[in-house]
Amino acid sequence: MQKYVYLFNEGNSGMRDVLGGKGANLAEMTKIGLPVPFGFTISTQACNAYYQAGKKIPSEVEKQTLASLARLEERMGKKLGDPKDPLLVSVRSGAVFSMPGMMDTILNLGMNDETVEAVATLTNNPRFAYDSYRRFIQMFSDVVLQVDVFYFEQFLEELREEKGYAADPELTAEDWQQVVAAYKEIVRKHTKKEFPQNPKDQLFLAINAVFDSWNNQRAIVYRRLNKIPDHLGTAVNVQSMVFGNMGNDCGTGVAFTRNPSTGEAVLYGEYLVNAQGEDVVAGIRTPQPIATLEDEMPEVYRQFTETCRQLEQHYNDMQDIEFTVERGKLFILQTRTGKRTAQAAIQIAVDMVEEGIIDKKTALLRVDPDQLNQLLHRRIDEKHERVLLTKGLPASPGAATGQVVFDADEAEQLSNKGKKVILVRPETTPDDIHGIVAAQAVVTSRGGMTSHAAVVARGMGKACICGCEALKIDLHGKKFSVGDTVIHYGDVLTIDGSTGEIMSGEIPMIEPELSDEFQLLLAWADQERKMGVRANADNPEDARKAFEFGAEGVGLCRTEHMFMDSKRIPIVQKMILAEDSEERMAALDQLLPMQQGDFEGIFEAMKGHPVTIRLLDPPLHEFLPDKEELIIDVTRLQLTEPDSPELHKKEQLLRKVRQLDEFNPMLGHRGCRLGMIHPEIYEMQAKAIFYAAAKMAEKGMNVNPEIMIPLVGHVNELKKMRQLVTVCGKRVQDETGIEINYTIGTMIEVPRAALTADQIAEEADFFSFGTNDLTQTTFGYSRDDAEGKFLQAYIEQKVLQENPFAVLDQEGVGKLVETGVQLGRKTNPQLKAGICGEHGGEKNSIEFCYKTGLDYVSCSPYRVPLARLAAAQATIKQNKAVYSTF
Ligand code: ADP
Ligand code: MG
Ligand code: MG
Repeated sequence: MQKYVYLFNEGNSGMRDVLGGKGANLAEMTKIGLPVPFGFTISTQACNAYYQAGKKIPSEVEKQTLASLARLEERMGKKLGDPKDPLLVSVRSGAVFSMPGMMDTILNLGMNDETVEAVATLTNNPRFAYDSYRRFIQMFSDVVLQVDVFYFEQFLEELREEKGYAADPELTAEDWQQVVAAYKEIVRKHTKKEFPQNPKDQLFLAINAVFDSWNNQRAIVYRRLNKIPDHLGTAVNVQSMVFGNMGNDCGTGVAFTRNPSTGEAVLYGEYLVNAQGEDVVAGIRTPQPIATLEDEMPEVYRQFTETCRQLEQHYNDMQDIEFTVERGKLFILQTRTGKRTAQAAIQIAVDMVEEGIIDKKTALLRVDPDQLNQLLHRRIDEKHERVLLTKGLPASPGAATGQVVFDADEAEQLSNKGKKVILVRPETTPDDIHGIVAAQAVVTSRGGMTSHAAVVARGMGKACICGCEALKIDLHGKKFSVGDTVIHYGDVLTIDGSTGEIMSGEIPMIEPELSDEFQLLLAWADQERKMGVRANADNPEDARKAFEFGAEGVGLCRTEHMFMDSKRIPIVQKMILAEDSEERMAALDQLLPMQQGDFEGIFEAMKGHPVTIRLLDPPLHEFLPDKEELIIDVTRLQLTEPDSPELHKKEQLLRKVRQLDEFNPMLGHRGCRLGMIHPEIYEMQAKAIFYAAAKMAEKGMNVNPEIMIPLVGHVNELKKMRQLVTVCGKRVQDETGIEINYTIGTMIEVPRAALTADQIAEEADFFSFGTNDLTQTTFGYSRDDAEGKFLQAYIEQKVLQENPFAVLDQEGVGKLVETGVQLGRKTNPQLKAGICGEHGGEKNSIEFCYKTGLDYVSCSPYRVPLARLAAAQATIKQNKAVYSTF
């Protein structure tokens, strides 16, 4: 018979798949002797069995649950529903991957009209008993019976007002008793039934609800966002209750063993005295920093810090821990690997190596390359004065500017229109997820550093400020005020999540730099990785930035960007519009020294590392004015100034634009097809490269230009272009008397090139896989049309798992890359191969490139550090896989 239910002393942390993350860690902590309230876990398989049985708890699951409950009762010496000494439990969901706040926990289950009296007598604290009962009714009704919490909160608020109370602690036992009665009435009214009094019914209804919550809207959204498979299911933890709300020697809190924002190795957390469970995370009362616990409950604090140290040592990673103090006694209710910012991830990884807790390889695997984008982001320029509006808690670092919005839907709508927004809320809940995704940053007036907003924002790498109590938010009026200043919907704010500062208006930002720890980690990455990392850089400035970030060469220099410069474009247009070859040569002669200058700058920045330069790629009409606009101009001039030279000029231009107009520019006259028909353009470019190389060589610098012919589909194209370049090279070398080390290769970006790579490699020294175009041509999608029109729907409907322009499609496009490398190396074993599409900066694609045997990846300068790390991870993971098969 399959085992569906495990007591906490029957599991361990290796059983995540079965027990879920929370259950596995509760078992592990029980195993190592930490003070964990006892309980049991119903497995994820039970959840799947529940769905297979048509959303019914199978009898075997029920049987095992009851058996485990009996063991729990024995152990606690209390029975669920016992009118003299009742056992109370929590029912907590726990999926394999932590899904913060996605599924609700029910506390105090087992409370009913009888047991509440027993609790009141036993604790000699009726106030506590009725307060616990009303919490249970509210939570249970919300999660299980689907009665909106609004009705309960509304009643409570009215009562507070009526009695003139400012906060809940002022309510007396009698008040809570009255609340309980009213709550039961609310349940009766909305469900047409009595609140369930039988604790076993309560338990199974709750278990049902946890299973159901696996498929609630916000859980589904969270899974989609985080690419968590839908079939995993959730486990259910049933655990005996401990109480943080029995008085002032009680409390509940959350702490990280290190600062999750900066990585600093100090305990970081918050707690509330005389409070239960969700009070801290819900952000209803602003909690106290953990350090004050040392003064208030020194013994508990000492024991807690010791437990934190023990847990960190045990798991070898920073932990996020939930605890409760009941009458001076500490209980640990949860531990998990703490979510952290990129800055903290790096700091903690490096520190833990230095502390001897982990080795360098583990440290490298601890930092998610995707997260590094956060650090490679801009921040507020210190030179500019900050006129402070107010300050809150610095809950997630980074700076952001945007328009203020007050709800998640608005955030999403405006952001879809391309606007940058900052979401301002009293607090956030899981229902606001889509708004947080859409916003640049989140600001809340309530809640602490561990509130929902803070946790979610840090996970997403967004700036966040919490507990900014000076903000008086008027959701209805779509505005907030700070003192006399009023900020309305749509006004612009700048926030600094690292300091908690909020400023009105926009403040200039500056470019990022790498911290010492970051550099150190990257140096370790460089020792591990086998694959080269280059950058795509079109000008000397980008090349310098790339070099600073550790690029070992330029993998793609797109020469057309040099043509787009406002001073050059008229010359380029003259070249295109030339009526005869003399005119065209004159324009090209003017362009040559300009390109040469750019190449010299790039060679200089790369200090002798290879530079791959692609000859002109886009169709010529991209350099000419827009056809529609020209038609309007011409029509206007025909009416107003029919004989003007202006009109004549524009008409001529329009004629040329019409000549060059294409039905399908992506598949039109571009790439090497330009060089085939207008060889003089490629000749000019080749010469500019050789002259630049010669000049640098003259200065004593070793330069290695790699001249790349784009969009080759047939070996004969490359043969011709190779010859053209070689002739230019010979001429320049003869003329200058300087020998230049150069190679000639091609981009592989149409399927035919990959399929005939053996032939093409005979004419090529290197291949560079242009996976942007290769994705377009393999799928037959034009990227702009696809992303604008149908790709989103494809991903939502799971036709495609990912946007293939962001994450390399390994099955299709990847197969062409593999084929290309294999065929190419067959006829040319020396062939160098790399990738220069955007995929070169995406971690999964980078791993694929490594496995495929590419020599290097090339990506945008800002992604170079990420690529260095991802390339190291690819090596480490592959070695691990090899070891584990022995
Ligand atoms: P989440 O996954 O949202 O963090 P949890 O299951 O951890 O939900 O529970 C939410 C809150 O309830 C936590 O603060 C936790 O400390 C508290 N809690 C859960 N079980 C118990 C229990 N048995 N006794 C006391 N507090 C509990
Ligand atoms: Mg928790
Ligand atoms: Mg291309």
